[in-house]
Amino acid sequence: MRFSGFLAVFLVWMFATEARAFDWDIQRIDGRDYVSVAKIAEFYNLPLDVAPSDRQMYLSRGGRSLTARADSRDLDINGVRYVLSFPVLDRNGKFWVSRMDLGKTIEPAFRPENVQGLKPFSLVVLDPGHGGQDKGAASPYEFEKNFALDVARRVRNELQQAGLRVFMTRNNDSFVELQDRAAMANAKQNCIFVSIHFNATDTNPDASGLEIYSITPRGSPSTEYDTLLVRDMVQEYGNANEVQSFALAHTIFHSLRGANLDMADRGVKRARFAVLRLTKMPAVLIEGGFLTNSGDAKRVASTAWRNQYAKAIARGILAYRKLVETDQAPPTMAEYRNGTASVNSAATPPPRPVATPAPAPVNSINLRDLPQ
Ligand SMILES: [Zn+2]
Repeated sequence: MRFSGFLAVFLVWMFATEARAFDWDIQRIDGRDYVSVAKIAEFYNLPLDVAPSDRQMYLSRGGRSLTARADSRDLDINGVRYVLSFPVLDRNGKFWVSRMDLGKTIEPAFRPENVQGLKPFSLVVLDPGHGGQDKGAASPYEFEKNFALDVARRVRNELQQAGLRVFMTRNNDSFVELQDRAAMANAKQNCIFVSIHFNATDTNPDASGLEIYSITPRGSPSTEYDTLLVRDMVQEYGNANEVQSFALAHTIFHSLRGANLDMADRGVKRARFAVLRLTKMPAVLIEGGFLTNSGDAKRVASTAWRNQYAKAIARGILAYRKLVETDQAPPTMAEYRNGTASVNSAATPPPRPVATPAPAPVNSINLRDLPQ
């Protein structure tokens, strides 16, 4: 009797486990695991709208959307651009996305509230790029180093007003080595790291817009590269927080895109910049427009624009604070634009007790199954 009791419990457990599992039908293509966009549509309950003429797939329901393009690493989720690790494959009209990208980008972009290991923080380390003899990019108005420090100070003021502590890796026109910036942050507790830069290019004066970086997942190429390099296999300090850092990048970028900054969307990207590799906390680097583009440079040179920009960065950081404290999804670009966004943690229910694990969602993705 005792044994059959155990058996009954076991069978119920088996059934419950079975009910939660989702059959991704993972396919091996060119040595890499892929899932179909059709399965992604089914998993996220987004009706699939195939437009084979322009080699594009568009999924949409209730304000949530995903657009995938054949042979492209660009993916739009909820109106914001993300750059994948690997291109979307088209096999006889069926689209495939790498399992890496499903776990490291699509899932945390759709459901950042499900990211494991999000930790409350009380300190924000702001890292104004360049300084001293390292002037950064040039513009007709100011050097990047001066714009970066100005914006960082404005972000600091916003965050302090919201009750967060702020540490600046530099607060004057001094030169600070990249590894020293990371070391300063690593000496702090309970913090996140936000590096502030502006962009430049020698080759294309038309290049413009905002982009944000978090560390490239181990085993995938950075946005800048098409192929895997030996360094892509190295486990950096930053890789310990790669999904949390992505959630921070995602959350800040929606705030930037939801603000009236009049800047193009260059997307949520990946890189192994030194400050992203060497920091031991969630870390992002924001490129706030191209100083080599006449329109962007003019905007950045405006005090009013920099003030709006700094407010949008700070708002994104507060949205991340709300995410880690309440497990509620941060506002999307559309919610910021239509005025329904709230980033105020105090107006939301208190954080869950640490001892109570969040219940597993019906459709859960086990990130531990992904290639590390
Ligand atoms: Zn820079």
